[in-house]
Amino acid sequence: MTQVLSGKEVSQALMADVKQQAQQLIDRGVIPKLAIVRFGARPDDLWYEKGAKRTCSRAGIECETSELSQDAPWEEFEKVLSTLNSDPSVHGILVLQPMPKHIDTTRARYLIDPAKDVDSMSPINAAKVFEGDPTGFPPCTPTAVMEIIRHYDIPLKGKKAVVLGRSMVVGKPAAMLLLGEHATVTICHSRTADLAAEARKAEILVAAIGRARMVTSDFIGQGAVVMDVGINVDEDGKMCGDVDYDQVAPLASMITPVPGGVGSVTTAVLAKHVVKAAAALTSA
Ligand code: NDP
Repeated sequence: MTQVLSGKEVSQALMADVKQQAQQLIDRGVIPKLAIVRFGARPDDLWYEKGAKRTCSRAGIECETSELSQDAPWEEFEKVLSTLNSDPSVHGILVLQPMPKHIDTTRARYLIDPAKDVDSMSPINAAKVFEGDPTGFPPCTPTAVMEIIRHYDIPLKGKKAVVLGRSMVVGKPAAMLLLGEHATVTICHSRTADLAAEARKAEILVAAIGRARMVTSDFIGQGAVVMDVGINVDEDGKMCGDVDYDQVAPLASMITPVPGGVGSVTTAVLAKHVVKAAAALTSA
């Protein structure tokens, strides 16, 4: 019988801890605060921002948004980040992605204070993920994958993990986090010769390719644990993952649904990171 891994259940468990830690900060006069930086008003950004604010407020975390126009010049963005970096009441900064094309992403990544960089925009935090340094902030989405694995006690040591996708936001950090837990990791991408054959070797399969329902039964070894990171909209306008759930679920031992899986845990991880940043920034 396939076990459906509930993101909601994991998120609730995480938030119970986050609330407790936030309360400890509030008791000593520190109100944890997240600053969101948004260019324009893309529906995806507004949707994510609304969810992040709702989750944070449940834990007593304050949120504010700095809204820039879609064509705001570099200097304005730089000034906003510099103000937030030096504002002692702000503990976490999240710049919604993707930024407009005229903003040099590589340069932008160096602007954010790594101590407030709760979604791993800074190369310092990316490096810490690769070094396995727990003082950093790995990106929220692959961390959500790890939180689900931890919550359900899914063993990783010595297991074969295959990650589909190699972006800096999901694929690569997911691979490093799995490696940090002693899985044997393969990373696949658009030039992988036989994607399905590689995926079939997985005991833990993480799908993060951004292709609606591309992962079919052909990709699944019997009893694999399937973590679907994808958030796509299919031709009928319905939200779906990278995994063809109906085909894959009967073959998997465990699977995350979309919606209700990894995505449901991401904002809880964000709240956890804000509280962690606030604690580190305000400790004597
Ligand atoms: P990117 O587009 O940045 O990266 C996609 C990766 O998948 C690339 O490495 C690409 O390979 C690979 N890929 C694309 N097509 C194929 C293919 N046909 N065969 C093999 N590999 C392929 O996406 P992200 O990493 O940002 O996001 C991945 C998915 O996760 C998306 O669906 C996104 O919506 C979702 N997402 C979900 C979040 C959540 O909270 N649950 C948050 C962030 C993202 P190559 O490098 O060779 O181009």
